[in-house]
Amino acid sequence: MTSNANILIVGAGMVGLAAANLLARDERLTVTVVDAGKRPEFAIDDDVSLRVSAIAPGSSTLLSSIGVWQQIVEKRVCPYTNMKVWDAAGHADGPETLSFEAAEFALPQLGFIVENIVIQDALLHQLEHTDAAIHFDTQIDSIRRDGDRYEIELQSARKFRPDLLIGADGAKSFVRSCAEIPVRLWQHRQKAFVTHLRPGLNHGNTAWQRFVSDGPVGLLPLQDGRVSCVWSTTPAKADEALAMSAQQLSNRLTDISDAVLDRLTPEGPRGAFALESQHAERYVTAGLALVGDAAHAIHPLAGQGVNLGFADASKLAQTIFAELDRGESVGDLPVLRKYERARTGANQLMLSFVDGLNRLFSTDSASLAQLRGAGMCAFNKSGPVRNHAVQVALGIR
Ligand SMILES: Cc1cc2nc3c(=O)[nH]c(=O)nc-3n(C[C@H](O)[C@H](O)[C@H](O)COP(=O)(O)OP(=O)(O)OC[C@H]3O[C@@H](n4cnc5c(N)ncnc54)[C@H](O)[C@@H]3O)c2cc1C
Repeated sequence: MTSNANILIVGAGMVGLAAANLLARDERLTVTVVDAGKRPEFAIDDDVSLRVSAIAPGSSTLLSSIGVWQQIVEKRVCPYTNMKVWDAAGHADGPETLSFEAAEFALPQLGFIVENIVIQDALLHQLEHTDAAIHFDTQIDSIRRDGDRYEIELQSARKFRPDLLIGADGAKSFVRSCAEIPVRLWQHRQKAFVTHLRPGLNHGNTAWQRFVSDGPVGLLPLQDGRVSCVWSTTPAKADEALAMSAQQLSNRLTDISDAVLDRLTPEGPRGAFALESQHAERYVTAGLALVGDAAHAIHPLAGQGVNLGFADASKLAQTIFAELDRGESVGDLPVLRKYERARTGANQLMLSFVDGLNRLFSTDSASLAQLRGAGMCAFNKSGPVRNHAVQVALGIR
C-alpha cells in the first residue's frame, strides 16, 4: 500500500515536534510524524529528569506561538535571571568574569531551564489536537530517492512518498545518511557528565559556568533548589564520575566549580554523553530538508543546540507557508534553498564561536590564560559588541 502524505517528519524530538505543530496548523498540509523510540511520558510527580535545556527567550516566544509555553511553565521550569562565566585562572567575582543580568536587556529573565521531556510532552499533547498522524515505535526500513522525491518504507511495509521529507532525527540522522549528505565533524575529545546536585548556597536563579582546562562545568538552576550539572571533560574522567561514590563525586564537583555554591551534594540520576560538533554540508535536496541536530550538533557549553533547532523549524515553516501562498510545491529545491540560505550562516557562526570558545579555554597554557583574561575584560567593556552577542545568544536578534 502506498499512502501519500504531504509532509513526513522523521523524529519526534523537541525540534521535530515543534516543526510538526507549526506545519499541522495549515490545513493545506497533511503531516505525519514517525519516531523509532517510545512515546515520551511526563508525570508531574516524576523527579526532575536528567536532560534539561536552557531555553532562550526567542524559543519561549516560538513555543508560545505554538500554544504550549503556558503549559510548560505550569508544569516545571526554572527562570534564570543572571549568568556568570569565569575562567579557572580567575574567580566568579573577578573583573574578567562575564556577568549578565536580565534587567540590563530589559527582560524579566535571560531564559528558563526546562526538562526536555516537559517540552516534548507539551508539544505532543498539542499535536494530538491537530489532524497530524503520530507513530512511535516505528522503524524505517529504507529511504530511497525516487525522481525528485523520496520513498520511505517502514518495517511494517507501509510506504510514503511525501512532497517533503523532514529529517529531525538527531545527530546520527538516518535521513541525512540516506540522502548522502556529508557532515563536517569537530571532535572535542570530551564527554558531558550530567547529574543533579543540591548546593550548599542558594543558586540565586543564576546559570554558572567555570572553564577548567579539560572543559567547562555548568551549574543550571532547577525549580526545587537543586542545580543541573553539565561537566564537559575527558571521556575517562566522565566515565570515572559515573562510577564514583556520592562523597567522591561531591568532592570532585565542589572542587571543579571552585565551591561557588559551597558544597555540592549529588541528588539525582547520572549520565554521560559523547560530545561532537558537526554541520551538514547541505540542509536540503529536492524533496528533503534537515532540521535541528540532524543538520547541526553543537557543544552544549552555550546552551544553544535546541534553540538553533527551534529557529530552523520556524524558518522552514515560514518558507513553506510563503511558497504555498505563491502556489509553489513545498518540496521543490529552489523553495527549500530559501530555508537553507536563511539558516546555514547563523548556525555556522554559532558553531564556530562555541567551538573556538571551547578550544580557547581548554588549555593549560599560562600565556593563553592571560590573553583570555584580557579578552574577557575587553569584552565586558565593549558595550554594543557585548550587547549584540548576548542578544544573538538569547534569540532576540
Ligand atoms: C549534555 C547536553 C546538554 C545540552 N544542553 C542544552 C541546552 O541547555 N540548551 C540547548 O539549546 N541545547 C542543549 N543541548 C542540545 C540539545 O539537547 C539538542 O540540540 C536537542 O535535543 C536536539 O533536538 P532534536 O529534536 O533535533 O534531536 P533529538 O533530540 O536527538 O531527537 C531525535 C529524535 O529522532 C528519533 N530518531 C532517531 N533516529 C531515528 C530513525 N532512524 N527513525 C525514526 N526516528 C528516529 C529519536 O528517537 C528522537 O526522538 C544539550 C545537549 C547535551 C548532550
